[in-house]
This record gives sequence, C-alpha cells and structure tokens, in this order.
Amino acid sequence: MQAKVLVSACLLGELVRYDGGHNLQQHPLLAQLREQQRLVPFCPECAGGLQTPRPPAEQQGERVLTINGDDVTAAFQSGAELALQTAKAQSVVMAILKARSPSCGVAQIYDGSFSKTLIDGEGVTAARLQAAGIVTFSELQLLQASQWLAVYDASCEL
Ligand code: SF4
Repeated sequence: MQAKVLVSACLLGELVRYDGGHNLQQHPLLAQLREQQRLVPFCPECAGGLQTPRPPAEQQGERVLTINGDDVTAAFQSGAELALQTAKAQSVVMAILKARSPSCGVAQIYDGSFSKTLIDGEGVTAARLQAAGIVTFSELQLLQASQWLAVYDASCEL
C-alpha cells in the first residue's frame, strides 16, 4: 500500500477556513494523490472543536489567542493531537499544510499582532507532526513535496 499524505482540508476546497471560505489548490500533485486515494483531509481547528466561521487567531508565544483576546490554545492543541493520531492511524508520511495558518503554517506564521507580520515558526499542528517525524510542506512548496514523495515511493519499491 502506498503511503498516505495528510492535507489541510481547506486546500481541497472544504469550507473550514475561519471565515467560512476555503483555499482550494488546483495542482497536479493533489490531483494525482486524490486519484491514488492517498489523501487524508484534515482540519485541526474544526477537529479541536472550533466553529466555522470563527474569529481569526494567531500564536502569541506558547498561547493562541483570537483577535478578541480569547485563549483558544487548548482547542488548537487538541486539534494537533487529533491530527497526529489520524496521521499515525493512516500511515501518513508527509503532510501538505496551509501556509501561515496558526495551526497548519510551515516555517512561517503571523506574529500575534494581527498586522499580517510574518515571523519564522510553525503552526501548532505542523510542529506536532514534525516532532513525530512526518515531513511537512506548505501549498507554496508543492514542487518540493512532489520530489520528496517520488524519492520516498521509489525507496519503497527497492
Ligand atoms: Fe485550513 Fe488548517 Fe485552518 Fe483548518 S486549521 S482551515 S485545515 S489552515
């Protein structure tokens, strides 16, 4: 069986984004993975119990706060844990995650000031998956993701 790929559900067009929208990506890699039935769609914020639509949130240090000042850290951590449990149950080896999200962001997130200022860092779920050894890419890195998966698949055929 080919290894699975966990994907931020909003990248597949699911209406789970904080504002009720989506971030649908039309890309050959996602089409190929869907055809191969290797996609595992997941929205950690929904899984963590947050409603859609919901107030935007950003990380501030170890905490995650909404623009209204509500502490939603527990929901974000719960969503990250459920993402990891799902990934393990489905033999996920790689994740394609929405860039800059406080849950899914890879390498860059917003700084907590709600001013669109980016800093180096990982979303709560991205960090949890990485710590468990799952390789993460954002939708801005789909070429690299495709190359990494091709090498992984080839190694499995040896
Ligand atoms: Fe998309 Fe992740 Fe935000 Fe859910 S938590 S809407 S999957 S970026």
